[in-house]
Amino acid sequence: MVELVMLGSGSKGNSTLIRTERSAILIDAGLSARQLSLRLESVGQNPRSIEAILLTHNHADHICGLRVFNKRNPMLLFANEATLHAASHMLGNQVAAETFKNSRPFTAGDFRVTGFPVPHDAADPVGFILEAEGIRIGYTTDLGHMSRTVERRLAGCAVIVLESNHDRTMLWEGPYPQVTKQRIDSPRGHLSNDHAAGALSRIMGPETVHLVLAHLSQTNNQRRLARSVAENALQQAGSNNIRVSVAMQSRPIDPVRC
Ligand SMILES: [Zn+2]
Ligand SMILES: [Zn+2]
Repeated sequence: MVELVMLGSGSKGNSTLIRTERSAILIDAGLSARQLSLRLESVGQNPRSIEAILLTHNHADHICGLRVFNKRNPMLLFANEATLHAASHMLGNQVAAETFKNSRPFTAGDFRVTGFPVPHDAADPVGFILEAEGIRIGYTTDLGHMSRTVERRLAGCAVIVLESNHDRTMLWEGPYPQVTKQRIDSPRGHLSNDHAAGALSRIMGPETVHLVLAHLSQTNNQRRLARSVAENALQQAGSNNIRVSVAMQSRPIDPVRC
């Protein structure tokens, strides 16, 4: 069995646990080390047993807890070279790191992992495909639009984690400064509910059983709104059997098992 637990996700910090019965890895460590440990323990995972962590990109909401967490619970870090370089000032020199090349599979714990480029304003941001026990998981947050590459990679995964960052009306009518609104809404910013929903019919296949909406803005989105936009799109595409979860910033959501 493969289990995915969104430990916390949103503009204020992101980390996800993915485990089999023998092995556990993290994607990103954008929560404080203390929060990471507490949330792992709350879902029955000893922080010391994490074998590896994969980094999507160098923004603080994905790496800010890594240095301290890794000092307490040493593990292997996987990142591409540009991300590792850009994040080095926040990681210190205690972290054991291995670089991967985008689109070249590597092994982390029980998982065969492939990083692929996503359009976002960071050094060399990636999404991941993770495979174990015949299950394929597609994971991508922090992307300004759905590129062909992203659609092709996510297509037909059993579990798809996809950003559903904001409602565009809430963003543009909301309190953020103009320059921040423009950044978020740009092709290298963050994916809106509508843009995520618009891609669903192209990425959901007969193998797909679960969709997880992630990286929601607490200012410019609501969980029930993101869910209803995605569920409507799935219904229109005839994909009524796909379960939808919506990640939370403040605590882990129920594990996705398959
Ligand atoms: Zn980012
Ligand atoms: Zn982010």
